[in-house]
Amino acid sequence: MTLLTPIDHVSGVGARRASAFRRLGIPSVAHLVHHIPARYEHQEAEASVNDLPAGSIVSVRGEITHTRVVTYRKPRFHATLADHTGTIDLVWFNQPYLSRRLYPGARIRVQGKAKRMGRSGLQIANPTWELLPADDERGPERRDERLRPVYPATEDLTSDAIEKTVEQVLDAALPLISDHLDPEYCSARALPSLADAYRSLHRPESRVEIEHARRRLIYDELLLLQLGVHMKREHIRRTMRAPALRFNEAIDRHIRDRLPFQLTEGQDQVVRQLAQDLSRDTPANRLIQGDVGAGKTVVALYAMLLAVATEHQATLMAPTELLAEQHYLSIRDMLKGSAVKVELLTGSVTGAARSGILEKTARGDIDILIGTHALLTDDVRFARPAVNVIDEQHRFGVHQRARMRSKSDDETLMPHTLVMTATPIPRTLSLTIFGDLDVSTIRGLPPGRQPVTTRAITPAEAGDAYAAIRARIDRGEQAYVIVPAIEDGAASGLRDVGTVVRYLQSGPLEGKHVAALHGRLKSKTREHIMERFRLGRIDALVATTVIEVGVDVPNATVIVIEHAERFGLAQLHQLRGRVGRGDKPSECILVTDPTTPDSEERIGVMTRTTDGFLLAEEDLRIRGPGEVFGARQSGAAPFRLAEFPRDMELLMMARRDAAEWIERSPALDGDQEELIRKRLMKAHGEALGLVDVA
Ligand code: ADP
Ligand code: MG
Repeated sequence: MTLLTPIDHVSGVGARRASAFRRLGIPSVAHLVHHIPARYEHQEAEASVNDLPAGSIVSVRGEITHTRVVTYRKPRFHATLADHTGTIDLVWFNQPYLSRRLYPGARIRVQGKAKRMGRSGLQIANPTWELLPADDERGPERRDERLRPVYPATEDLTSDAIEKTVEQVLDAALPLISDHLDPEYCSARALPSLADAYRSLHRPESRVEIEHARRRLIYDELLLLQLGVHMKREHIRRTMRAPALRFNEAIDRHIRDRLPFQLTEGQDQVVRQLAQDLSRDTPANRLIQGDVGAGKTVVALYAMLLAVATEHQATLMAPTELLAEQHYLSIRDMLKGSAVKVELLTGSVTGAARSGILEKTARGDIDILIGTHALLTDDVRFARPAVNVIDEQHRFGVHQRARMRSKSDDETLMPHTLVMTATPIPRTLSLTIFGDLDVSTIRGLPPGRQPVTTRAITPAEAGDAYAAIRARIDRGEQAYVIVPAIEDGAASGLRDVGTVVRYLQSGPLEGKHVAALHGRLKSKTREHIMERFRLGRIDALVATTVIEVGVDVPNATVIVIEHAERFGLAQLHQLRGRVGRGDKPSECILVTDPTTPDSEERIGVMTRTTDGFLLAEEDLRIRGPGEVFGARQSGAAPFRLAEFPRDMELLMMARRDAAEWIERSPALDGDQEELIRKRLMKAHGEALGLVDVA
């Protein structure tokens, strides 16, 4: 047997079971060893019937006093087991033939999970059993108390079956596992060897041992990613050159004169830092965080204009078409009357329009190209790219970012990358998702902002709330109404866009301009509606979460969120960030019937604070990090085992170790490094684009 032995060659694994294993992602012995128990059950030592704890896996021996076959509905076989302290009911489903083997008077020993069945005492369903000699007079044996692994399983492949197969191969497999970390390295960090770790996880002696083993595997997982990130970064530093953008007083003045307002202290600080970054020929890779409404767009614009000032090109990539369109419109406005050429490229721009833009971009005739991930396509090429800005980046992870390669003919040229995100990224998460970036923070908000008040109301009170909105509209202000569904909401008991528009038009907002906005509209229509909303021709916009990020209309002063319990905390904060952008007091109204303790907690947090940092920490606490920012779906948290903040200490250790390691050996090509290099490439090589580092 080797680690590569296919699972169907393992003795006891037939064709059916082998295909069940493969469906579970276990085609070989190596995969089986790597299939880690999700948890462990405490298996009690053998005990007398009277002492058996309910809810645990127990072992008990005694004499069968009574049996019964039930054929009605679920066919099953019942047996009563007695020892000198009491009796317990045993039941086996679909095994009527047991009646021939287990009969009154037989002595057996059984093992299984004991459940309390009302008043009638304990029952064990489908226990494993063994016949004992008729003269067995021994009492309960004090052996085999142990931790029993519970494996991730499927309907046709139970944890028990997996456990049996693991036991089948483990002794032969463990010595074959080669470790990519040497023993001194491990012992210096109090980590077990890889083989020991796997042994402990499959056959643990104690909880402490399991924790120890997990530490090793989690460390490995974090180390590999951190090594990859540092390797890539070092490679870029050594081989790639970015355009060093000339910068001086005159250019700075010229750009600032273009902006519609004076930069805040916080923006100014970040802008200075950026100017320094961009004046070097090392590609900058910087995360700019600032709470919702902090004014990140002009900071991005500053950086892009710095590129344009020296005849270079810049891009701005947004996560949604709506946001890209808005950036395009507002930046075009700010640059009106200048010679700067701005274009928009999204998935909706096709045909001749698209090829025209591509051609001009490649010739260098477009200075600033704004768009969605459509900018990433291979045929988008630049003559003199210098700055790439990615807005609201929390939706992409390390892996996605690596796809932003050089897009010019000069393969050694790499533009500066700036990533903008609304603050709520706790430090723990930012180190994992943004481990490869330098970070700056825009502190504070633009002057004159009024705090947004937030209150929660029940659906029954919504009518009053809409009447209050009418009063605001009469004063010339505007409103958003957010609903979770576009149409057919009624089917799921939700209010949808259509219903709410009709309700408002014929009720509380009769005579006002109400419009709908959602992702299924054509992009031209959407653009048109947003433009009219921006110009104040629409009073109330009923929308889905398409407006979640970035949308900026300072005259909108109230946002109503219907079914607020259905939205996550980060999402609610982003939505609330659509108001409070001007100098009028704004309000966020959460219409909700909290249905779970979690949603109740979220709504509570929303009404208590508007601080994005605080909210983010609360979100992390309530939901756990995997869910936060949809990190899991977007691939931003590529971890199988690591969890935060629990594993923060390991992360810091892995980061430090990876940085030192790569400094010592930038390409991991030493004699002893073949294995770790191979494993790193397998885990992240393609995603991080490390192939060219080789
Ligand atoms: P976000 O950080 O959420 O992306 P935006 O860049 O959309 O925020 O800016 C929010 C609003 O604040 C916009 O209306 C913008 O014009 C305005 N703004 C940004 N910076 C300033 C400033 N220095 N002074 C006044 N208003 C500003
Ligand atoms: Mg923004």
